[in-house]
Amino acid sequence: MSATKIIAYISAAFLIFFGFLFIYATFSPRGQIGWLIIGLISVIAGFVLIFWAGRKPAVAADQNVTVKIDLPGNVSMDTMKCKSCGGVLSPENISLVAGAPVVTCPYCKTTYQLTEEPKW
Ligand SMILES: [Zn+2]
Repeated sequence: MSATKIIAYISAAFLIFFGFLFIYATFSPRGQIGWLIIGLISVIAGFVLIFWAGRKPAVAADQNVTVKIDLPGNVSMDTMKCKSCGGVLSPENISLVAGAPVVTCPYCKTTYQLTEEPKW
């Protein structure tokens, strides 16, 4: 429930409550006919407010902002680590062999093919 709705419902509750008080006071010995009109308007305004708040769709529900950030296929080179020894690899350690990227670790000299989704 949004804040606007809560305010609307609280305002409506007050309007209806005081509206009924005015209507009730109209029939008291010192009551005035004018109070009945004020009371009725207040009660009607309260119900209109509830009706309006109930019908108005929540703004937050409509704004389902799904920001999808597509990560580039190539993982940032400075975060790459060797599968075998965990040594940090630089772009110079990657070479294309038969069209496939191959990593040659400068620390442990391990050579392996670079997969599309590295798990290191
Ligand atoms: Zn290594």
